[in-house]
Amino acid sequence: MTTAPATTIRRYGIFVDGAFDAADDRSSIARNSPVDGRELAVYAAGDRTDALRAIAAARRAFDDGPWPATSSMDRARTLLRVADLMRANAERLALIEAEETGKPLRYAESDVAGSAELFEYAAGLAMAAHGEAHTGLGEGATALVVREPAGVAAMILPWNFPLLLLAQKLPFALAAGCTAVVKPSEFTSGTALELAGILAEAGVPAGVVNVVTGYGADVGAVLAESPDVDLLSFTGSTATGHAITAASAGTAKRLSMELGGKAANIVFDDADLDDALDGVLFGAFFNNGECCVAGSRLLVQDSIADDFVERLVAAAQQIRVGDPLDGSTDVGPMIHGGHLEKVRAHIASAESHGGRIAVGGGVPRGVETSSGHFVEPTIVLDVTEASPEFHQEIFGPVLTVTRFTDAEEAVALANATEYGLSGSLWTKNIDRALSVAKKLRSGRVWVNTTIDGGPQLPAGGMKQSGYGREMGNAGFEEFTEVKTILIREGKRSRAFPHIG
Ligand code: NAD
Repeated sequence: MTTAPATTIRRYGIFVDGAFDAADDRSSIARNSPVDGRELAVYAAGDRTDALRAIAAARRAFDDGPWPATSSMDRARTLLRVADLMRANAERLALIEAEETGKPLRYAESDVAGSAELFEYAAGLAMAAHGEAHTGLGEGATALVVREPAGVAAMILPWNFPLLLLAQKLPFALAAGCTAVVKPSEFTSGTALELAGILAEAGVPAGVVNVVTGYGADVGAVLAESPDVDLLSFTGSTATGHAITAASAGTAKRLSMELGGKAANIVFDDADLDDALDGVLFGAFFNNGECCVAGSRLLVQDSIADDFVERLVAAAQQIRVGDPLDGSTDVGPMIHGGHLEKVRAHIASAESHGGRIAVGGGVPRGVETSSGHFVEPTIVLDVTEASPEFHQEIFGPVLTVTRFTDAEEAVALANATEYGLSGSLWTKNIDRALSVAKKLRSGRVWVNTTIDGGPQLPAGGMKQSGYGREMGNAGFEEFTEVKTILIREGKRSRAFPHIG
């Protein structure tokens, strides 16, 4: 089944202090379809003034507004209303997400459902949030350790999961009582702006959430530099993460960095090989391979490698590339032309460093004459540590294959990149599973599954994949400050008995 594309161009202004600016009277950013170049949407090209206006609105809403002082029960109810409205608008949100990103519609639909769940989960956290009381500090002393909202939280987002990654931050911030300025990617701002409308409809007060579209240098950098932003939660490339860290240096704001990844899928010889095959394919080609936790490196044990790779290559040949709105599509186009060129250059580089292309590498069948940014799902064999593609994020439907002899070598290979975001391993041996999982230097490890989880489970990186955690209790705590209040009853014994 094919879903009809939207026929009108969506025009959006900037959302500050509870209202959208007029979209027409300012410079803008056009979003064209990665499938056929058709104009999909026009976003406002926000600038420094817009960013400062949004920060000021969020500041006022935090310092003087009702949100931080609203009871956690009322905040939770509001978040639940947001989730309901997201579900009521799920079809539209998923269509926008699929059109703007080029991801298959079924993945966009599950992103929307997952985003609504994150709002529901955060509502539960808001209700359950509590502090500590200490009474063991000597007679007549009581101490309270309370969690307060961290303040104005800026959120800067990438283009690969525009709504879902926003939902990994915003509901947790709102549950904690923070106010927010959101800067979506300039390629995929639609669903963040749609969400702004939903938040207003659900009763989130004006100024609590502001969405400023625009380029990183014009809007994102202002958020990083501003002393009025208390916390900045960034998801994007490691290079931009470093630029934001440097730009924020003079402000002492708290940072959370969700950066790049280069995950390994490790397949041991005792694994359920049917499951492993399915997981390796999903890990590499899910979301067009444009996924921070993509299992872009297969590490396969020597003893099973020939058969496993033969089956893998045969399976990859059956992946259907095409229009994301066509229900039978597995892999859509790359986000934009520049990114397509980058992915192609990586394929060429892998080959020039001794890799052998077993499948793919070119333009997919059926879309040869299309202007879309399509690339074939590609598997490159014999990729060694000497190849840049063993280490660098490709961020496309490209899987490299490397063999190992034992668990020790598998761990060494998996850890041999600068990244540490996630990894998967496939084995039926529980001892081996646990010992390898503990040795992987990454924020998430999946055993006999991949790219899996729920709102309860924290996600985040080690090494150059960043720091800070999203989702779960840890994700909520990111948006809180800890304050200690110590009370002593009765008369105080004199510190300077000779005085007074
Ligand atoms: P990007 O770093 O190019 O852009 C991300 C955001 O930063 C955009 O909104 C952009 O406008 C903004 N930006 C750019 N320059 C800026 C600056 N100087 N100051 C402030 N903001 C600036 O990343 P991308 O290409 O949109 O996304 C792909 C990257 O995101 C990949 O590296 C991927 O691994 C990473 N990612 C990580 C996670 C995670 O959870 N760790 C999730 C998804 C994507």
